Amino acid sequence: MRLPILFAAAILALFAAPARADALTAALNRAMTLFEAAAPLLGNSALGVETSRYRDALMMGKFARGAEEISLYYEEKSDPAGHCGRFAAYTMLPARAGMIRLVICPRFFRPDADDLRSLTVLHELVHAVTDADECRAMAYAARIQKLATGRFTPVEAYWQANNCAGSRFALP
Ligand SMILES: [Zn+2]
Repeated sequence: MRLPILFAAAILALFAAPARADALTAALNRAMTLFEAAAPLLGNSALGVETSRYRDALMMGKFARGAEEISLYYEEKSDPAGHCGRFAAYTMLPARAGMIRLVICPRFFRPDADDLRSLTVLHELVHAVTDADECRAMAYAARIQKLATGRFTPVEAYWQANNCAGSRFALP
């Protein structure tokens, strides 16, 4: 699986450093490969995430919600005092003027973090197509990894920090 070339080019244009655009594109490609391996086992929806909508968001960078078309805008940012101090990336909800911004933080580009990057992409896209529920986003991302590879990145600390044990979602 490869990103559609126009979408990949759009990402390249947004990032000052080509190596960072490459890292994001590689993470998106990896997330797509995992998703496509898992998709036949997801049905029309899983954990409240519509499979076709999620696929559009991941592969095309846009998806439909009712009559509205929503585009994703990947943006590189460094705000250590804000969310980037805690996260590798975050999604700005709700959509504004048909656009959702996905902010990619410096932590995303740490070396030897390929699994973290693909997990982060899978996680943020759940936010983009659903809501801000951290437990749903992490449960869905972990399910994709598990269905595709038989294992998932350990996220116990995150799970506890967000009190997900008491949520309606579960890790695989
Ligand atoms: Zn999240």
